[in-house]
Amino acid sequence: MGKRHASILTSGHVYTETCINFMKLEISKSNNHRVDSFDRSNHTFMVHEIIVLREGRPIGHFSVNISNKWCDCGKYEAKHMPCSHVIAACFSIQYNYWSLIPDVYKVETVLKVYDEAFQPIPNKRYWPQYEGVKLCHNPLMQRVKKGRPKSKRIRT
Ligand SMILES: [Zn+2]
Repeated sequence: MGKRHASILTSGHVYTETCINFMKLEISKSNNHRVDSFDRSNHTFMVHEIIVLREGRPIGHFSVNISNKWCDCGKYEAKHMPCSHVIAACFSIQYNYWSLIPDVYKVETVLKVYDEAFQPIPNKRYWPQYEGVKLCHNPLMQRVKKGRPKSKRIRT
C-alpha cells in the first residue's frame, strides 16, 4: 500500500468524498420533510416535502420502506445511498441512516482495490489472435454532432 493510501486511511475518513457530498445535500433537504409513520414495526413511512425543491418537480409525497431499501422517488434504489426521504424517515425513529450506506462507498473498500498488483498489458504484437465473431458498426445509428438528428422515418 502506498503512502498516500495509508494517509487516507489514517485520516479517519470512513466514507468517500462523493458519498459525503451526496449525504450532505440529502441531509439538508431532509430538514424540509414531514414524516408520517404508517407501520413502525415494518419500517414503512409516508414522507411529505413541505417546500418546493430545486429539482424541477412539484412538492412530492413518497412512501419509504427502510427494510426493503425503497423510496418512491427512485434515488435510493438507483444510487444505493439513502435519499432525503429515507433520511427523514430514519431520523423520525432515531435510526442511524449512515448504516444504510453499503461498504462500496467506504474508503477502506475503495483502497482495497489497489491492494492487488496489476499486471502490465503486453505489447499488442504478443496478444493472442482473436477468433470470435467480428462486429461492425451501423453508420445510420451514429449520432449527429451538430444540427438535427438524422430522420429514421421511412418515407413512402
Ligand atoms: Zn426518496
